[in-house]
Amino acid sequence: MKLGILADIHSNLPALQECLGVLQGEQVDGYLVLGDTVGYGPFPNECLELIKQLPVVRVIAGNHDWAAVELEDVESFNEEARQAILWTRTVLKPEHKVFLNALEYNIHTEFYQLVHGSPRDPLDEYLLDVDTFEKNLEDLKANICFVGHTHLPLFFYREKETNKLNSRTIAEGEELALDRTTAQIINPGSVGQPRDGDKRASFGVFDTGTLKFKLMRKEYNIGIIQEEMKKAGLPEPLISRLSEGR
Ligand code: ZN
Repeated sequence: MKLGILADIHSNLPALQECLGVLQGEQVDGYLVLGDTVGYGPFPNECLELIKQLPVVRVIAGNHDWAAVELEDVESFNEEARQAILWTRTVLKPEHKVFLNALEYNIHTEFYQLVHGSPRDPLDEYLLDVDTFEKNLEDLKANICFVGHTHLPLFFYREKETNKLNSRTIAEGEELALDRTTAQIINPGSVGQPRDGDKRASFGVFDTGTLKFKLMRKEYNIGIIQEEMKKAGLPEPLISRLSEGR
């Protein structure tokens, strides 16, 4: 089964549409959505409508999704993120609030685990370094774990020869040969607000048969979303950062 892996869409409809177009071309059978479908951007309802229509989709909650339905306090958010959440609360349709409220935040099967932040702190921890990876090993429920939250395409793994834990970024088009016998955490980067200096949407495709994960990037019309963000009165730094991928 081929699965599209999408994280941190952040209400960015043009980016989401482009990614879904690529994944349909890859003939995926289903999708895994790793949280933060809303927040920051101007299209929360449209993104949720699109996600809910996908065939075979598993969606988990991120910290912005929870904040949008008041399950998480916005006090810990920075000023721009907080403003965007307060705006999102005012426009979210009731049925989408119900959907976000009901989302699980830590899903695991025998094949994989899905969390937004990290296995030990599924909503809020940023998995950025090997030290944090190590501290999460005992909470891993499957050897292949997909995360989001940092908006950076990153791979955490154990080196075969030395048994040492390691991490690295994942390049566009790179194929990771995952395996079931050793702990690995994969972040596909962010669909709607990439932060690795590449403004293109970042996402992946995972084949549950071959255990290959491929990272993909796709350009989208940034002007459309920036225009809509201005109209909605969303904070300027959130608008300009999309042009820089930071
Ligand atoms: Zn996020």
